[in-house]
Amino acid sequence: MCGRAALFSPENKFRPFCSERCKLVDLGQWATESYRIPLAEGGEARNGEDELN
Ligand SMILES: [Zn+2]
Repeated sequence: MCGRAALFSPENKFRPFCSERCKLVDLGQWATESYRIPLAEGGEARNGEDELN
């Protein structure tokens, strides 16, 4: 994430990230994408149901 080598050892509780900061950044990007996709699909699905009714 930041370019530093992550320490793959039991002592590094943030692995595979090198630090908690990198872990939060990566999780934040995942959350952003996962929120974006369901919102778009849900909007289309709801519009289809309205037309059927
Ligand atoms: Zn890093």
